[in-house]
Amino acid sequence: MTRLNELQDELKRKELENKLRELELLQSELARRQDRQNEEASAGGLTKEQRQKVQRKVLGSCMRKLDGLVCEFARREARLNGERGRPSESENLPHPPILEEYTVAFCQVDEGGRELLESALAARRCAYVPYSQFKVGAAFRAKCGRIYTGCNIENAAFTTANCAERCALAKGISEGEMKYTAGAVVAYHPDGFTTPCGVCRQFIREFAYKDFPIYIAKAQPPEMEGSIPAIQDTDEVLVTSAYNLLPYSYSTFN
Ligand SMILES: [Zn+2]
Repeated sequence: MTRLNELQDELKRKELENKLRELELLQSELARRQDRQNEEASAGGLTKEQRQKVQRKVLGSCMRKLDGLVCEFARREARLNGERGRPSESENLPHPPILEEYTVAFCQVDEGGRELLESALAARRCAYVPYSQFKVGAAFRAKCGRIYTGCNIENAAFTTANCAERCALAKGISEGEMKYTAGAVVAYHPDGFTTPCGVCRQFIREFAYKDFPIYIAKAQPPEMEGSIPAIQDTDEVLVTSAYNLLPYSYSTFN
């Protein structure tokens, strides 16, 4: 890997040398043109203004190339020194502390989290999914402590479908609850956890004045409910958070 990096650096150095040679050629070409113009002018060719215009144009082009090369030099030098260069703008954005993300057995989840998961599970029973048959339940706890639940609601015109997370939050927001302290999402997928979609992540983020935990459980398929507990004590729960789900969210940070 180091050898590869060295070869790449060598290649880049050669590229840079070639560009410098090109610049030298351009400068000598410029000098040649100036000589020619002087000869033409003395022979009654271009006026003084025309000569100056041509010279400014050629000089401007050379200066732009030179500026580009200087920037490239600085960038490569920083890289060779192991520096990252200027941090991206997104790294400078202010945001509240981000919670830790982990998995834990359902029986180890705190009481508030278990209550939210049970509430989401109950909401899943109302899911209206005649097209996908994929039922999702969600629950969010408002700052006042009240839990709002929701399920996914599909529609014959697919784009008008609504997710469980937005359904739950919309219920709370429509009753004046603008801040939330925890959430939960429950669905069954054989391959793993069902996390909120991108749209819901941004929607959740809007009402997360600071980061809050979101419990995700892979419940049993809805048709098996009743015969075995939908979430068993040993089932794994993913405890993520609003900011972990959407680290570079759009926000005005007000
Ligand atoms: Zn969604």
